[in-house]
Amino acid sequence: MNAPRKTLTDEERAIYEWQIWVRDFGEEGQQRLKNASVLISRCGGLGGVVAYELAAAGVGKLVLAHGGNARPSDLNRQLRGTHASLGRPRIGTMTQRLLDLNPRLEIVAVGENVNEDNAARLVEQADVVVDCAPMFEERFAMNRQAVLQRKPLVECAMYDLEATITTGQPGTTPCLACWCPSVPSQWKRQFPVFGAVSGTVGCLAAMEAIKLIAGFGEPLFNRMLRMDLRDMTMQTLALARNPECAVCGSLPRD
Ligand SMILES: [Zn+2]
Repeated sequence: MNAPRKTLTDEERAIYEWQIWVRDFGEEGQQRLKNASVLISRCGGLGGVVAYELAAAGVGKLVLAHGGNARPSDLNRQLRGTHASLGRPRIGTMTQRLLDLNPRLEIVAVGENVNEDNAARLVEQADVVVDCAPMFEERFAMNRQAVLQRKPLVECAMYDLEATITTGQPGTTPCLACWCPSVPSQWKRQFPVFGAVSGTVGCLAAMEAIKLIAGFGEPLFNRMLRMDLRDMTMQTLALARNPECAVCGSLPRD
C-alpha cells in the first residue's frame, strides 16, 4: 500500500510561495514535489546543480550516487565544494550543503557511482532519474534499469561549450541506447568544460524533473535540445525510437 500523501505545512507554503504562483503548477504541484523522489547519478558540476535546484524547489527525497573524494580540479564547476572540502568524500559535502539549504529534505546518500550491481536498487527508490554521469558504462546501466522499471530519465551531457539534454519515457520515447548504442569513439574521460556550461545544463535538467513530477509543461520527449554556448545557438533535434534497440525495442508502445 502506498504511504499517505504528505500535505504542505504553513512553513512550506511560505518558502515556496513564489513558485506556487507559477501557472499550471500551484499548490498541487508543490505537494507532488514534496511526495516525490529523484535519483541523481553523480553530483558533480552538472548533477550538483540539479540536486541544489531540486532541494531548493522542495522535492521531498533525493537519492544521490557519487563516489570519490574532492580534488582541486573539481572546484571550477562542482559548486558543492569549498577549499575545506578537498580530500573529503564528495557525497558527504553534497549532503551537508543540501541539508543546510533544505533541512526538510530526505537524502539517501550513496558514496559510489552507478554500476551494474547497484543500478536496480537505486532506480527502485526514485520516481524520476537524472543522469549526469560522464562514463558510458554508468549511463548504460542506468538507462537499462530506467527502461526495465519504466521510470522517466533525463539525459544530460556536455563537452567544451556544447551541451545536450533530452528526456525519455520508456515505452513512449527513445531510450539512450536507441540513439547511442555504444560508447562513441571520440569520447574521453577528461574533457574541457566551464562550470557555467555544466550549471546551465543542470538547471535545465532540474526543470525537466520538476515538470515530470508536477505534470505540467512539455518535457523534451522525442526531442534533444542541443546548445552551443560559444555562439549562443540552440537547436531542437527530433529523436525516434529504434525498433531494433537492444534495451527498449521489445517494450510495447504506450
Ligand atoms: Zn531504446
